[in-house]
Amino acid sequence: MKAQLLQTPIVYLKGVGPNRAETLRSELGIATYQDLLNLFPNRYIDKTQYYKIVQLQRSNADVQLIGKIVNIKTVAQKRGSRLIATFVDDTGKMELVWFRGQKWIRENLKLNIPYVIFGKCNWFNGSFSMPHPDMELLSEHEKGLKISMQPIYPSTEKLSNKGITNRVIMKLVQQLFAETNGRFSESLSPNLVGELKLLSKSEAIFHIHFPKNQELLAKARFRLKFEELFYIQMQLISKKLLRKQKIKGFNFDQVGTLFNDFYSNHLPFELTSAQKRVIKEIRADLGSNAQMNRLLQGDVGSGKTIVAVMVMLLAIDNGFQACLMAPTEILAIQHYNGIQELLKNTGVRCSLLTGSVKQSARKPIHEQLESGELQILVGTHAVLEDKVRFKNLGLAIVDEQHRFGVAQRSKLWHKNEIPPHVLVMTATPIPRTLAMSLYGDLDISVIDELPPGRKPIKTVHRYDRNRLKVFGFIRDEIKKGRQIYVVYPLIQESEALDYKDLMDGYESIARDFPLPDYQISIVHGKMKPADKDFEMERFVRGETQIMVATTVIEVGVNVPNASVMIIESAERFGLSQLHQLRGRVGRGADQSFCILMTGHKLSSEAKTRLETMVRTNDGFEIAEVDLKLRGPGDLMGTQQSGILHLKIADLVKDNDILKSARHYAIKILKEDPALQRPENLIIRHTYAQLMKHKTIWNYIS
Ligand code: ADP
Ligand code: MG
Repeated sequence: MKAQLLQTPIVYLKGVGPNRAETLRSELGIATYQDLLNLFPNRYIDKTQYYKIVQLQRSNADVQLIGKIVNIKTVAQKRGSRLIATFVDDTGKMELVWFRGQKWIRENLKLNIPYVIFGKCNWFNGSFSMPHPDMELLSEHEKGLKISMQPIYPSTEKLSNKGITNRVIMKLVQQLFAETNGRFSESLSPNLVGELKLLSKSEAIFHIHFPKNQELLAKARFRLKFEELFYIQMQLISKKLLRKQKIKGFNFDQVGTLFNDFYSNHLPFELTSAQKRVIKEIRADLGSNAQMNRLLQGDVGSGKTIVAVMVMLLAIDNGFQACLMAPTEILAIQHYNGIQELLKNTGVRCSLLTGSVKQSARKPIHEQLESGELQILVGTHAVLEDKVRFKNLGLAIVDEQHRFGVAQRSKLWHKNEIPPHVLVMTATPIPRTLAMSLYGDLDISVIDELPPGRKPIKTVHRYDRNRLKVFGFIRDEIKKGRQIYVVYPLIQESEALDYKDLMDGYESIARDFPLPDYQISIVHGKMKPADKDFEMERFVRGETQIMVATTVIEVGVNVPNASVMIIESAERFGLSQLHQLRGRVGRGADQSFCILMTGHKLSSEAKTRLETMVRTNDGFEIAEVDLKLRGPGDLMGTQQSGILHLKIADLVKDNDILKSARHYAIKILKEDPALQRPENLIIRHTYAQLMKHKTIWNYIS
């Protein structure tokens, strides 16, 4: 079967006129034969059984019956009307009901002729009725393909209003099989089909629409999922290879004195083996002549900062400048202070640039950057301003990447002719294979080990009515010299209410923890930056014992003496946010606690989130649950990557298939980058077709 035939506009398929073609296009995005073929069923229904009316149960199952319509009438109701048909078989009678599309039904239904009907039954006023049944004349039914599992296709209200029922779509697909003899050209190489024991393309397409049995359906699904993920991976990986070929990078071939001196004399602690491994991976990139584009994943507290510092030293050792960009001012300041502390005996020159640095103070920074005197610049996105020009920026590190997004990341690139190496650090743990797809052409390093000696944070869930007990606990912890965070949700849609909750909460805490024994800081987004910093500083210095805040403290803040994190209205937070917040404690030597406060009424999802938090501290495990609850669609950054448009595969549930698809894509491209070998011919053709018709996942990076 020629590929061109599949590009035939759907209007030419027998049974599709201009009207239906338009509806199919607008409702399901079906424009060509190919599109219809790729409209995979959502589910399947066992059609081996025919029920009698007398056998009907008040269950929710779909049933299939044979009988006749003996009578049809329109009944007026409060709004509009409904169409009711009386359906009988030799055991009884029931009603068929339509609320929409009545005209079409009325004109087409035949009385006193046997039909096969299919659908869910309702029990109402002592008899059964079936709303919007799927119907077919028995004579047609008997002529049709004998299938045991009926496909149920995606549908919309407009489709059914226009009479394009599931049965109609099924007929169209059958027509398509008839016109093409059900033969479709293979789209994976014989090697892959053989090695993975895949169904052929034609078999897979047939059994995804009309599976003969469960086993063949499973095989068809596997083959099609594999194919979909495989070609996405082919695209990602060839893009990466291309970048490595095309985009030259500075070659950091020296492991110079600064790095060595720091390593031998100034490391404040022994690096974990994960930190060592990651530094090695990064060093290999930096000496490879290609531009580094690497994602560094590590749970909160896993020690990404020291890695960043050591990589910056490598840059400086090779005569380059380095820049570290953080998403918030608070975090930039903290990075700056931390880096200054680590580098205090090394003579490296480092400055801070944020939005609130005064113009007068900026001038020397600009000058020293251009002269090369300044070796490290730490800041917020203020570092991206045009006025900021480096003498020779060799390395850009971006912390917490989901706050920036793609455009700003690439802006850092264009600061000089050869782009700097880029290291993106994120504390949002995402299962590795998913990260590979999301961040496509980035390489990935993972710090999967926490520094030694950390006590796992104890997490509990408490209801609001137990607040007094919780306050008692806070009092005890403060007596021991610890500090406490109390965090309130702040969600854009309910901002005004949320601020009220925050202020009410603050007042109630202030009443229970009065001056002069207790000092309380409050930080939220409506405060002036200077006031915010002042309050933060007081808490960091230990002058205040309680920090009441909105999620501004979510990112990165490091106060090792803080040992209790209280999250108010915890049911309103997402899992990854809860995990990030909890990561603010547990940074010192003391036992730390996280208390999740909620109201009494909880959705089942909220319960799962809370239970997960109580059960584990492992960011990757939490990320897996989060993905299962929400799907990758809600994950930060996925919207723009277009990962939602997968036809059959699911990036979370099909993780194993994804891994295997990636494995083979890498293998094939490594052995045959231009896909010139005869055994890869089919792959080359299919890939070219997919790119041409833009049916491949539209990935932005
Ligand atoms: P994050 O990955 O969240 O940015 P940080 O870099 O802020 O983590 O590190 C968290 C804390 O752990 C810091 O106080 C840091 O000094 C400490 N730390 C990092 N690496 C180690 C290590 N190998 N041994 C002991 N402490 C470490
Ligand atoms: Mg950090």
